[in-house]
Amino acid sequence: MTPLDILAIAAHRDDVEQTCGGTLLKMAQRGYRTGILDLTRGEMGTRGSAEDREREAAEAARILQVSWRGALDIPDGRVENTFENKLKVALVLREQRPRVVILPYWKGRHPDHYTASTLGYEACFLAGLRKLDCSAAVPAAVVAGASTATPTGLVDSVQGKPGQDSRQDAGATPHRPFKILCATLYYDVRPTFVVDISDQFEARFQSLMAYKTQFSDQDAGKDLFPAQKEIRARIEAMARFYGMLGGVEMAEPFLQKEVGLVDDLLMIPVKSI
Ligand SMILES: [Zn+2]
Repeated sequence: MTPLDILAIAAHRDDVEQTCGGTLLKMAQRGYRTGILDLTRGEMGTRGSAEDREREAAEAARILQVSWRGALDIPDGRVENTFENKLKVALVLREQRPRVVILPYWKGRHPDHYTASTLGYEACFLAGLRKLDCSAAVPAAVVAGASTATPTGLVDSVQGKPGQDSRQDAGATPHRPFKILCATLYYDVRPTFVVDISDQFEARFQSLMAYKTQFSDQDAGKDLFPAQKEIRARIEAMARFYGMLGGVEMAEPFLQKEVGLVDDLLMIPVKSI
């Protein structure tokens, strides 16, 4: 299996589309292999079923040109930082072997979001432990991994012996990502950097609109157009705000715990005055 360059991990299907979808698309357009791991399958959503969400998530993945997308079987609304859940995420990290992992920010309104951040970080650590056996997480780990390379079929299905054998092999080789970033769009915190998504904004918005059960199927009697218009206005305002901070039209915000390393003072972007 070819390793991913970047893996974005989020609690719910449609989170990545809202927080870092433009960045994932931009990286894919640069030739990097990108992936998305959704920890839950969206069965608690007010509108639509887990099956609807799966179909919509696959369509969003196609729009964002990701190479791999998978979902775990962690219950929606009950993302807990347990050892079992960490093993499930660690197994995916060992299989997909990303150099960069994007997590949610560790504070937020929705408990699933901030828990996913800590869970993801600790899974990154565990995945690198040589003596840790992740195979305990094998039977129930990945519910479905859709690859845009084979858009009609699901890969990584837990059924079938060959897949499981290769999973066990991959799951046995330690891997720790080089860089862990947090996508901060859900929380009001000053980012350490922003990514210019001016050219990716429209596609990123379309990837969110692919969740038709979420964003089109509004309450009876309501015209869907104003609702979509409002969503669009909000998302555009956020993108423009972060774009302004970086001196570009539209951007997505990120935070890294490490300091920045500079080699050439004349190459530092973003104007000061
Ligand atoms: Zn969410």
